[in-house]
Amino acid sequence: MHDPRISVILGDITTVAADAIANAANTSLLGGGGVDGAIHRAAGPELLAECRTLHGCETGKAKITKGYHLPAKYVLHTPGPIWRGGGQGEAALLAGCYRSCLELALSHGCRTVAFPSISTGVYHFPLELASAIAVKTVADVLREHPEDFDWVCFVCFDPHTKSAYDRALASAP
Ligand code: ADP
Repeated sequence: MHDPRISVILGDITTVAADAIANAANTSLLGGGGVDGAIHRAAGPELLAECRTLHGCETGKAKITKGYHLPAKYVLHTPGPIWRGGGQGEAALLAGCYRSCLELALSHGCRTVAFPSISTGVYHFPLELASAIAVKTVADVLREHPEDFDWVCFVCFDPHTKSAYDRALASAP
């Protein structure tokens, strides 16, 4: 049975009332399309203003801002790896995104965290591999911090993505 604190839902992450939501950002942190664009639209221009003070973020790491007009208190901005065939450290970088976000959440007292499917949009990371890495990394971090999180949710924007995360979670130890 997988960790009961981990779940998968179909939906729009900008509507999720978690303590923190992750943003599949780019390294500039100055906004983009996809989920990044949706988060900036929903949070309002104050989010971009704060992001400008952060001077970017490395792939596989994360930086935190307030959530402004979002229901979430914080946004964890994490640039996922662009898929270049798998030989450029993409898997470790993607795991780094999930781990960095959860460690940053922890240090800000966040007990509930929502993730989009990082890198599987315009960054073209293969969905089956990405979902397995996402689920395994989150499960590992939760196991390392048994008291610190109430739930972590994967918010999938389409049914195809949701079924990949459902399968990954079902086959997690
Ligand atoms: P990346 O550049 O990391 O690939 P994208 O934003 O292109 O990021 O896509 C990542 C995932 O986020 C895709 O599955 C995409 O469908 C999904 N997505 C787009 N908008 C939203 C949203 N509002 N809520 C949740 N997921 C979203």
